[in-house]
Amino acid sequence: MARGNDWMDSGSCVVLRPDLPWTGEWFDATLGQLAAMSRTCHTCPVQLDCAERADRLRVTAGFWAGRYHDPNALDLVRIHDRRARAAVELGGAA
Ligand code: SF4
Repeated sequence: MARGNDWMDSGSCVVLRPDLPWTGEWFDATLGQLAAMSRTCHTCPVQLDCAERADRLRVTAGFWAGRYHDPNALDLVRIHDRRARAAVELGGAA
């Protein structure tokens, strides 16, 4: 790590899913979008760089390395995640 910001160009959010609301407000994202962003980060080749940058900058907004960084959003995102998993397990749409 600590190799500049070139890694950002390789982020799956940029390469694969620029259509998702990465920098939007968490409460505007649908359950399907939250699940899609979680999945995208989970397989991202630069997730460690992303997490390190988010921690270093103490970001307080946006979806970084698998979660929203709005401190007020964390519990609600976890609730969204549980609801999305339950919907998938029940055969419903997330
Ligand atoms: S971990 Fe997620 S937010 Fe970070 S660069 Fe990868 S896809 Fe983008």
